[in-house]
Amino acid sequence: MVLDKFKEECAVFGVYGHPEASNLAYLGLYALQHRGQESSGIVSSDGKHHYAEIGMGHVAEIFSERKIRRLTGSLAIGHNRYSTAGASLLKNAQPCMINYSKGQLALAHNGNLINANPLRAKLEEDGSIFNSTMDSEVIVHLIAKSKENNFSDCVASALQQVNGAYSLVAMTEKELVAVRDPRGFRPLSLGRIRNSKSNSGSGDAYIVASETCAMDLIEAEFIRDIEPGEMILINEKGIQSFKPFNEETLSFCIFEFIYFARPDSNIFGENVHYVREKFGEILAEEAPMDADLIIPVPDSGIAAALGYAKKSGIPFEMGLIRNHYVGRTFIEPKQNIRNFGVKVKLNPVKNLINGKRVIIIDDSIVRGTTSKKIVKMIKDAGAKEVHFRVSAPPTTHPCYYGIDTPYKVDLVAATHSIKETEKFIGADSLAYISIEGLHKALRDGENKFCNACFDGKYPVKSSSMESPQLMLFDKK
Ligand code: AMP
Repeated sequence: MVLDKFKEECAVFGVYGHPEASNLAYLGLYALQHRGQESSGIVSSDGKHHYAEIGMGHVAEIFSERKIRRLTGSLAIGHNRYSTAGASLLKNAQPCMINYSKGQLALAHNGNLINANPLRAKLEEDGSIFNSTMDSEVIVHLIAKSKENNFSDCVASALQQVNGAYSLVAMTEKELVAVRDPRGFRPLSLGRIRNSKSNSGSGDAYIVASETCAMDLIEAEFIRDIEPGEMILINEKGIQSFKPFNEETLSFCIFEFIYFARPDSNIFGENVHYVREKFGEILAEEAPMDADLIIPVPDSGIAAALGYAKKSGIPFEMGLIRNHYVGRTFIEPKQNIRNFGVKVKLNPVKNLINGKRVIIIDDSIVRGTTSKKIVKMIKDAGAKEVHFRVSAPPTTHPCYYGIDTPYKVDLVAATHSIKETEKFIGADSLAYISIEGLHKALRDGENKFCNACFDGKYPVKSSSMESPQLMLFDKK
């Protein structure tokens, strides 16, 4: 069976040594909701047994006080999985859990492996029976099969066989490990809550989270990022760090800064909002335009629009209002309402826009369908001119490491020049920031980041990449 590729945007969270571990995991996942809305799960341990609660939907819908009370113990891990078109099944929700000869194991993974299919085929040949289509389950099987004696060595030997993107947390009944792949694709940070009446030796509880915004909510103190290729083991002896992998070229995901991470988080050593604002300033230098107003596409374009406005001196206005309460389902009108999907989410402030030359700023154009609808909406509101500025370069290539960009055929920039895209979305002008511009905004930007979605230079090859069918046509 082919695994569910390309679609593993997720959040992971871990707590060691806190009497309210599952409650903290719940709050951490709540803060990380933006990284995944399809399913969520928490597994806790009281030192003897694992307890689990996993469900489909948003964190607040899945967990109740009663359910969290059942998740006893001072050790817990959690996971949010992104909503996608395919494979939206409870059995694909994480943490992955097993009982095996050495005891109980739970694992939560963010990122995509690029060699999961051949590993899975080999494991199945050797008798493994898989429960899901997630590549994360491959790691669980490899850990279970490891002949090493202790948990961290089993995890290390399993991960030495996989290739691709992984920021993960895993736990037995008594120990927690957190690992970031040697290229460091996805963020992962380490924090601490002091004097938590814990059993971690120091009296402190340790926190691991995809993003620091989760630590802020539970008032954990940020210690540092988990380094690329680093494994952290936390048990009754305290906290230990290992580097069990060969060194690789760093490939931090630049799209985390563009779109995915929350602006109040610090990832890869920098604040996301601050970097986005700098993207906007650089965009204003690279693609200036005379206009009366700058309007962001909320929420994704706000920080870059602030930067563009600061640099250009053109007034910033919230000319598009977002309905924050758009749920997963609503009753659609029987009669066709043009662009209903986008209208229900965004509405222009007509009085602001009427008769004005407007610059719209968004963080990225992927398919181009949203921007097309927004341009139409702004023109219908009476704008004299609509100029579109994007704080990412044209997205020309799909991601194989965990960002849900569509197949190449669906990426407007893969099949259209900038001029053609401008015409497609109906803007009076269209311009994007350059890759060099992005790098200028980041510390050591040139050397640390994966920009494959913009330049096709994939730091690690995937077997699915070689299939022209998958790249261009097959959407199964
Ligand atoms: P479109 O060009 O119609 O595909 O939509 C572009 C919009 O989708 C932009 O406003 C982005 O903020 C947002 N976007 C970009 N990447 C993603 C992603 N991986 N998942 C969900 N939304 C995204």
